[in-house]
Amino acid sequence: MKEFTVRTDARDDLKDITQQVQQAADALGCSEGACLVFIPHTTAGVTINENADPDVVSDLLHILDKTIPWRDRNYLHGEGNSAAHAKASLMGFSTLVPVAGGRLVLGTWQSVYLCEFDGPRSRRVQVQVL
Ligand code: ZN
Repeated sequence: MKEFTVRTDARDDLKDITQQVQQAADALGCSEGACLVFIPHTTAGVTINENADPDVVSDLLHILDKTIPWRDRNYLHGEGNSAAHAKASLMGFSTLVPVAGGRLVLGTWQSVYLCEFDGPRSRRVQVQVL
């Protein structure tokens, strides 16, 4: 297993971590199989989406924020970050990326994104070869 950290820059932030995941796969000697990317946090997740038009990332964050507002008088969690927990669960805490010929097999426009929902802060990302 390999782990790296990512510094996020805003409360809601998507960071392209494709290169770091590839480097972890390289370090683990993965040539064929799959890489499990796991986020060991409860208010950050991981997803795969478009890397060509940055408006896609902005729109995704906007849609999540509109769907799950930061404040809601019905939230019970005393820490005050229920929206971050919910958004992270929607994105999920792991993704599986196929590997062939030592390279992550992603679509032309796909990148792997760490999804921050209670930043800015430092986040851990774990990569395991399967
Ligand atoms: Zn909390």
